[in-house]
Amino acid sequence: MKTLGNYINGQQTPSKSGRLGPVYNPATGAQSISVALSSADETRTAIASAEEAFKTWSKVTPLNRARVMFKFKALLEQHADEIAEMITNEHGKVFSDAKGELTRGLEVVEFACGIPHLQKGEHSLNVGRGVDSMSLMQPLGVCAGISPFNFPAMVPMWMFPVAIACGNSFVMKPSEKDPSVPLRLAELLSEAGLPDGVFNIVNGDKEAVDVLLTDERIQAVSFVGSTPIAEYIYATASAHGKRVQALGGAKNHMIVMPDADPNQVVGSLMGAAYGSAGERCMAISVAVCVGDEVADNLVEKISKEIDGMRVGPGVGLPEEAHMGPVISKEHCAKIKDYITIGVEEGATLIRDGRDFVYPGNENGYFVGPTLFDHVKEGMRIHNEEIFGPVLCVVRAESYQQALDMINAHEYGNGTSIFTRDGDTARQFCEDVQVGMVGVNVPIPVPMAFHSFGGWKRSLFGPLHMHGPDGVRFYTRMKTITARWPTGLRAGAEFSMPTMK
Ligand code: NAD
Repeated sequence: MKTLGNYINGQQTPSKSGRLGPVYNPATGAQSISVALSSADETRTAIASAEEAFKTWSKVTPLNRARVMFKFKALLEQHADEIAEMITNEHGKVFSDAKGELTRGLEVVEFACGIPHLQKGEHSLNVGRGVDSMSLMQPLGVCAGISPFNFPAMVPMWMFPVAIACGNSFVMKPSEKDPSVPLRLAELLSEAGLPDGVFNIVNGDKEAVDVLLTDERIQAVSFVGSTPIAEYIYATASAHGKRVQALGGAKNHMIVMPDADPNQVVGSLMGAAYGSAGERCMAISVAVCVGDEVADNLVEKISKEIDGMRVGPGVGLPEEAHMGPVISKEHCAKIKDYITIGVEEGATLIRDGRDFVYPGNENGYFVGPTLFDHVKEGMRIHNEEIFGPVLCVVRAESYQQALDMINAHEYGNGTSIFTRDGDTARQFCEDVQVGMVGVNVPIPVPMAFHSFGGWKRSLFGPLHMHGPDGVRFYTRMKTITARWPTGLRAGAEFSMPTMK
C-alpha cells in the first residue's frame, strides 16, 4: 500500500518515524493509502529547510514572488479535475463541491498575485523639517500552518499563498485524514518555480504540531480546526512568543422572518445545511423561525426536499449525488449518537438519517439528511457542533428572541437572516455577535480579498485569514524616521560663495 511521506526542501521525503496513519475512502470504507506520522526531529528538519530558504526568498523582489503565484494559479487550473477527484476520494464530498472548494482556494492565490500592491507600506514627507518617515511591511520568517480535514485544498490555501507572497517561508501540517492534496499542491508550487525549502509539508499528528508551536524558529502559526484544539494551539504558541490566528468550531444560525421569500429560504437552506454532508464550518445547522406558521411551512417544505435528495459516492454516478459520505467511521457514529441524543432530549425527529445505507457500499460512512423540529436552547443538539447533515429547527416568538439566542451561543462564526425588510436586516447586521453575516445569503464566506474569521470561541487571535488581515498577519511593520545632514548637494555649488 502506498505511503505518503513529507515534502521537504523541494522533494518528496519519506518519513523514518515508523508511525503511520490510515487514510480511507469514505464512500467505501476501504483504506486507500497510509500517511506518515512524522517525528519531532523530522519536523525540525523541515523548519531548518524553511529557515535557510527564507534568507534568499525574502530578498526576491515582490514582483518576482508574485510571478510564482501567477504560474501556480495556471497549474491549479490545469490540474483542477485531478485535484478535485483526489479531494472526493479522501474527503467524500461530491466532485462539483470539491471543484468549488478548489476555486475558493485558487481565489486566494489570485489575491496573492497582487500582494506587491498591499505590501507597499507608507511614507510621509517632512514629519519634521527635513525629516521623513516611512513604514515597511517586512516578512516574519518561517510560518506554520495546521489544517483540518474538511477543506484539504482551500484551507491550506487560505494560508500559504499569502505568507509566501509576502516573503515568508512555510511549514504546513495538513490533516492526517486527507493528506494527498496538500502534497500535490507542494509539487505544483515547485513546478511553478518556487525555490526549494520555501514551502514544506510535514505530515503527522500532535508530535509534529507541538514542535511547530514551540520551536523558536517559527514566527507565526495559522490554525483551523475544532475549538478545543484551537484554544490549545493559541495558548501554547502564544506562550512561546509567536503570533497566532486559530480558527475553531461553529454552530451557525439562520433567522427566517415571516416576510422572507419561502422558496428562496428552502433552496438556500438545503445547500447550506446538507452540502458537503454538513461538514463545513459555515454550514447552517440551526434554522430559527420567527413564528409557528413560518416553522410549520419550512419543516413541510424541507421534508419534501429531503425525500428527493440523492445521497451517494461523490464520483462515478451517472447523476451526481447531492451529498456524499462523512469523513470517518468514528465521525459517522458520533453524528448518529447526536441524533439519538436529540430524540432523548425531546426534539421532534422529522427525518432520520441514521439507517441510511448506500446499496453496494455498505461499509461507506453515510448518514442520511436529518431534520429536527422543536429544538430548544439548552439541548445538546443546539449547543454543540455536530458537523454532519443534521438541521435543527428552533421556533422563536420574536426577532429579538432569535437574535438573543444567536448572541448567547458560544460560537460566532457565521449567521444569516432571510427577510424582505431592510430595516430588520440592517439592525441584525449591527447587533449580531458573529464574525460573518449574510443577508438573504445562506453561507456568507468572504471573498479572498476580504478576510475570513469568526467571533467568540470560533476564533482565537485578533487577525482573520487572507485578505487585508492575512497580509497584516504575515508581515511586521518597521517604521523608519530619517534626517540627512547636508551632503553633496550643498557642496556642489558652482557660483561664488557669499555669506547667507
Ligand atoms: P481537529 O481540531 O481535530 O484537527 C485540526 C488539525 O489539528 C489537524 O491537522 C490535526 O492533526 C491537528 N490536531 C488534532 N488534535 C491535535 C492535538 N491534540 N494537538 C495538536 N494538534 C492536533 O479538526 P478536524 O476534525 O480536522 O476539522 C473539523 C473542525 O474544524 C470543526 O470543528 C470545524 O468547525 C472546524 N473548522 C473551522 C473552520 C473555521 O474557519 N472556523 C474552517 C474549517 C473547519
